[in-house]
Amino acid sequence: MARRIALGALGAAPLSVSGLTRMTSIDFPGQLAAVVFCQGCPWRCGYCHNPDLLDATAPAAMAWGEVLAFLHQRQGLLDAVVFSGGEPLLQPGLPAALQEVRALGFATGLHTGGMYPERLAAVLPHLDWVGLDIKAPEGDYARITATPGSGAKAFAGLQCLLASGVDFECRTTWHPGLFPFADLLALGRSLQTLGVRQWAVQQCRTPDAVAWCWTAGQQEALAQGWHGFTLRTA
Ligand code: SF4
Repeated sequence: MARRIALGALGAAPLSVSGLTRMTSIDFPGQLAAVVFCQGCPWRCGYCHNPDLLDATAPAAMAWGEVLAFLHQRQGLLDAVVFSGGEPLLQPGLPAALQEVRALGFATGLHTGGMYPERLAAVLPHLDWVGLDIKAPEGDYARITATPGSGAKAFAGLQCLLASGVDFECRTTWHPGLFPFADLLALGRSLQTLGVRQWAVQQCRTPDAVAWCWTAGQQEALAQGWHGFTLRTA
C-alpha cells in the first residue's frame, strides 16, 4: 500500500501550479500519466508555446492540495506524474512534491530546460524519467533563449543526467530558421558521442512561419546511428 505524506509535512512551500492534464500517454514513455504544469520560467525562447506560464509571480491556477486530492483518486489508475512547465526546477517546492507523489505510488517524471543543473542533481534521486531540452549547439543557446550563459547550464544538466543512471530523453525543437540543418545533425552526433540513448527532434511551427517538413533524406540522416530516435511533427 502506498505511504501517505501529509501536505506540508516535508516543510517546503507548495508548488505554484498553473494547470493539470489529467491523463496522457505521450508525456512519459510507456506510462499513463498526469501532467502538472508549474508556473514560471527564467528563459524567453521565441518559440515558447506556453507564454502564460513564464511569469513566476502570476497567481497559481490551482492549489497543490487539489492536485494531491486528484492523485489520491487516481491511485491504481495512473502510472506516473510528470512535472512540466514553465520550468519545474524554478520552484523550491519541487523536491517535496516529488516525494509526495512517489509516496502515493506513482512513478515520477520531469520536463526541464536544464537551466538549474545543481537543482536537477538534487532531485534526480526522486525521479524515474527526465525529458531534457537540448535546444541547440551550445553557442546558439543565448540567441534562442534570450539568456546569456544558458547553453552552459543546459549541457551541465545533461552531464548530471549522464552521470546519474536515471532514464532520460534529450529533445531538440527545431525549424530551419533557428540554425542550419547541418548543425542539427552535428548536435545529434555529439549527443551520441556523449552517451545519450534517446533523442527526440520536435518540429517547431510558429504561426508566422512558412509551413515546412523534413525531407525523407533529412529524416534518414537524423535517425542514423540511433536506437532510440523519435521525430515529432507539430
Ligand atoms: S525554456 Fe521552455 S518554458 Fe521556458 S521559455 Fe523556453 S520553451 Fe518556454
